[in-house]
Amino acid sequence: MTQGKFPLDKFDSIETPFYYYDISLLHETLEAIQAEIIDKPYHVHYALKANTNPRILKEISKYGFGADCVSGNEILRAIENGFEPNQIAFAGVGKTDREIEIALDNDIFSFNVESIPELHAINSLAQTKGKKAKIALRINPNVDAHTHSYITTGLTENKFGIEEKHLPDVLKLLPTLTSVELMGIHFHIGSQITDLSSFKNLCLKINELQNYFESNKMWLEHINVGGGLGVDYKEPDTNPIADFPAYFKLFTKHLELRKGQSLHFELGRAVVAQCGSLISRVTYLKEGIKKNFVIIDAGMTDLIRPALYQAFHHIENLTSKGKSSVYDIVGPICETSDTFAKDFELNKTQRGDILAIRSAGAYGEVMASRYNCRDWAKSYFSDTI
Ligand SMILES: *Cc1c(COP(=O)(O)O)cnc(C)c1O
Repeated sequence: MTQGKFPLDKFDSIETPFYYYDISLLHETLEAIQAEIIDKPYHVHYALKANTNPRILKEISKYGFGADCVSGNEILRAIENGFEPNQIAFAGVGKTDREIEIALDNDIFSFNVESIPELHAINSLAQTKGKKAKIALRINPNVDAHTHSYITTGLTENKFGIEEKHLPDVLKLLPTLTSVELMGIHFHIGSQITDLSSFKNLCLKINELQNYFESNKMWLEHINVGGGLGVDYKEPDTNPIADFPAYFKLFTKHLELRKGQSLHFELGRAVVAQCGSLISRVTYLKEGIKKNFVIIDAGMTDLIRPALYQAFHHIENLTSKGKSSVYDIVGPICETSDTFAKDFELNKTQRGDILAIRSAGAYGEVMASRYNCRDWAKSYFSDTI
């Protein structure tokens, strides 16, 4: 018996909870991205932090995409799984000396530098190694991404990037730092952005900044606009693939790329979110006061987004066709925030039913923890299950 795209017969014998990845959907998504960039000076760096499962990384790196990393270990993981070191961008406000050394040893594409102290650290570590570090300045554009405040990164109140008002100091400093080379400018305004006008505002800001760099006689080889494109958590089956044509066209239309410049994107969520589901079994049904709880064996330890960002995930009961009823779907962890959905309609649910929590491919498995001494959930893939 197979419901939709889930091989239910196989699921029966697997210990729940587990992550299930639809590898054909991942390929279709990667092909959709490739189709938009193939004839342009555009490069996509997959943002590893969304999902670092080695199998997933190997599929993505096969397409020739670069990587966007936010730690030294992510750089190593990317290289282990087929990404080219010279296509790795490295962001993060707190790069340690050890992490900078890993990046220098691997001759990465770009350090996306987030502060003046970091610039000094990279310069001195590169000097010790007799290397020249290629850098891009991550600038805080003060553009509102209109997304959840915990995943907004491009406002002056956020910790990320160099403030525009500090740019004159940076430009004065750069010629004195002989072991770094300025290659570009970098931005990342937030995540799960569904209002594309935020990206348009980013383009307009970048155009202004390009003029500023040019008026200071500084040539930028690349512009990196970061990631953040959102996915449809409400209707993953209607919109399994994000609107990449609209997304890339927006940059083509509004960003004034100079001759010879390349444009870089760091997509994470939009690449992997929809191909993953968290599969869980119903442990108990519990009647509350004006509430019916479905208690499942997956918890916030396996998918923390609802608890952390009040994120919505679509949930379906794969084993019931019964008349639908309204439930709160909760995990077993001793925290009230361990709730996947409130007042949510599911087909009539019983102990032993199997639920799929959809769109769990991004920021799911990577954010798992062992709180409550829980076991790690394993992962399974549609083509090898
Ligand atoms: C998280 C992050 C991304 C990816 O964001 P998504 O919303 O998953 O596309 C890209 N660039 C940087 C610097 C990031 O921190």
